[in-house]
This record gives sequence, structure tokens and C-alpha cells, in this order.
Amino acid sequence: MNAIYLDFNATTPCDPRVVEAMLPFFSAEFANPASRQHGPGRAAFMALEKARKTVAQSIGARSATEIIFTSGATESNNLALTGMANAPDTRGRHLITQATEHPAVLEVMTRLKTQGWDLTVLGVDREGLVDPEAIAGAIRPDTVLISVMLANNETGVIQPIEEITEAAHARGVIVHCDAAQGPGKIPVNVGDLGVDLLSLSGHKCYGPKGSGALYVRRKTPALKLQALQLGGGHEQGLRSGTPNLPAAVGLATALEQAGDQLNETSANLGALRDDFEQKLTDSVPGLIINGAGAPRLPNTSNVTFPGVDGEALMASLPDLAVSSGSACASAHPQASQVLLAMGLPKKLASGALRISLGKTTTPEEIQLAARRIAQEVHRLRI
Ligand SMILES: *Cc1c(COP(=O)(O)O)cnc(C)c1O
Repeated sequence: MNAIYLDFNATTPCDPRVVEAMLPFFSAEFANPASRQHGPGRAAFMALEKARKTVAQSIGARSATEIIFTSGATESNNLALTGMANAPDTRGRHLITQATEHPAVLEVMTRLKTQGWDLTVLGVDREGLVDPEAIAGAIRPDTVLISVMLANNETGVIQPIEEITEAAHARGVIVHCDAAQGPGKIPVNVGDLGVDLLSLSGHKCYGPKGSGALYVRRKTPALKLQALQLGGGHEQGLRSGTPNLPAAVGLATALEQAGDQLNETSANLGALRDDFEQKLTDSVPGLIINGAGAPRLPNTSNVTFPGVDGEALMASLPDLAVSSGSACASAHPQASQVLLAMGLPKKLASGALRISLGKTTTPEEIQLAARRIAQEVHRLRI
């Protein structure tokens, strides 16, 4: 049985044009971009720098030198947070984040806390939004960094990053933003957002898994991050190791296309998602759409069904590839930390479905999914 794939926030397929752009760099143009003493190496270097420029342009960065290629948003987040906390001329030991961040931020922050940093984790309201004024109020003279995500992977809720950076910069504090869920769904522009550090992931926007980047704003005084891994000093000393040229090219191609198709894709996704939620609301009284009162990604729907066991619901829908909301529900299902932070009771927070649409999703798939979910909810409620 072919399940209908509605889990695009977990990962997306590579766009065929992305694969095509990557292919030459696996074999014909295999040289090491760091081997600039010979022609093939210089060609590879040129290709890497072209990809860097494309990535920079796709997020409105002023210079390609602001882009550090990484293996994905997890690594970018680790590099940004650990790198800033351990920066040689750091001004303090206090870090700020908020409760619905991805584990690749929260876990790093928790480790830094055990290593002696002070950590403030701000809560969110019922819609999943963090209050920029609460962030401003948490800033101390020794605050090093604020990290707030652009859009949440479970609910799609979009945080008020511009207001946060404004408050932070007024107090001289650096802002990092995990923007893994942004490209292809909403505009991601570092000029508008004002952030100093921004994490990107290729496989969330039709690029290859294992590709990503960290944007590091050029400013005075310069941000001096500490590298996670040492070696040959690649990527301006921030990420040693032979660059993954196919991945960099794939990321660049994916981001370029995400930008080119943004208006069309996000309008399509939004219409399909709204249609899905309407159909479901019509047939399942009492359901809760989490985060619906906040700005949201156009492709994401996070739904809870009071009175229905979430685990049983998931188990009865093998024909739908959807997520249970919480990331690792396989072995022992846990309540979603994101939904708990939004104030949902534990029972509801462990029974949510996350439906995330992609650019290949069809109206027929959406109709079928809404019908099947409603069917099983009614069956389980009896
Ligand atoms: C997927 C995701 C990540 C991790 O990205 P990888 O490239 O898989 O490491 C980090 N943050 C958010 C918000 C994500 O959705």
C-alpha cells in the first residue's frame, strides 16, 4: 500500500533539478575545492563559491562570505550557539531561548547550562508565540545570545523575529534564528529579520539530506565564533573538513528554486491546508487546531481530537504518512513538548496529528486524508 505522504516538515524529496545540478560533482568534477594549485581544484573551488553566492542571495545576505556550509540545521544550530557561548571575547554567561525550539537548540542550551552558563527559557502563549517584550525583559548586561526559531516544525507557528532582533540589538545582544522550516513556505530575508546568525537545512526545502548552512552576519566588531571541529581551517576556520561540494550545490539550487516559486507555492499550499482544515472541522466537531490563532506556515496543520487516543488514531491510519506531532513517538510515545509549552493538557499533547503538505500534494490527497482522519476519529470515539 502506498501511503499518502503528508510529512513534508520532516523531510522533502529532492527536486529533480537539484539532483541534476549535483550529479557532475560526484564524479566528473570530483576535485577538492581546497586544491587550488591545479585546474580541476580551482574549478571545484569556483563551483563552491558560486553555490555560496546563490545561498547568500537567496536569503538576502550582503556577502557570500557570510555563508558557512554545514551538514544541516542541527550542525548550524550547534555551531551558532556553542560557537557564540565559547567565543573568545564573549561579554557574559547568559543565554536566552524559548520553549518550543527544536531539540537541536534546546539540547545545546541545556548542555551549555550544565557547563556553567545561565539559561532563560521563555514560555509561549496558547498560540505558541513568544512575547518579544518578555525577551526584552529577560536581557541582562551579561546576555550573550538570544535564539528564537523562525517557524515551528510541529505547529508552523511563526515567531515575531523582527521585533525580537530590534529589542536585542537595542541592548547589544546577538540574535540567532533557526530558519530550517522557512524556505519555500515564507520569505527568509536576513535583512528584514535583522538576525545575526541564521540556520538553514537543505532537505526541508527539496534539497539533499546532509546539506545546510549557517549565516554569520558581517558586522563591527566581528562575530568571533569558536569552531566545533578543528582541522584544515575550511569555511573561514569555522568548519574544518573537505567541503561537501555536491551538497552545497544541491542546497544552493534548492534555495534558489524555493525563492523563485515562493509566491505560487505558498499560495497553493495555503489554499490546500485551509481546505483540509475546513473539511476536518466540518466533520469532526470539537477538534482543536493548534496555533491557528497565530501567523503560521501555509503548509502545516497540527490537530488534536479530544476524547480520542492519539496513539490509536495514528495506528489506524497506516495509509497516511503523517507525524504524531512529537518527534520520536516510535518506541514510547511522549507528549509533544511544543504542545505542552502551549498549555495543552498532557493527554491532548500526546494525541496530536501533524499534517504537513508539500509542493506535490494534490487536492485529491487532501480530501482523502481529511475523510480518512474523520472516519477513524468517529470510529474511535464510539
Ligand atoms: C529539521 C529541523 C532541524 C534539523 O535540521 P537537519 O538539517 O535535519 O539537521 C532543525 N530545526 C528545525 C526547526 C527543523 O525543522
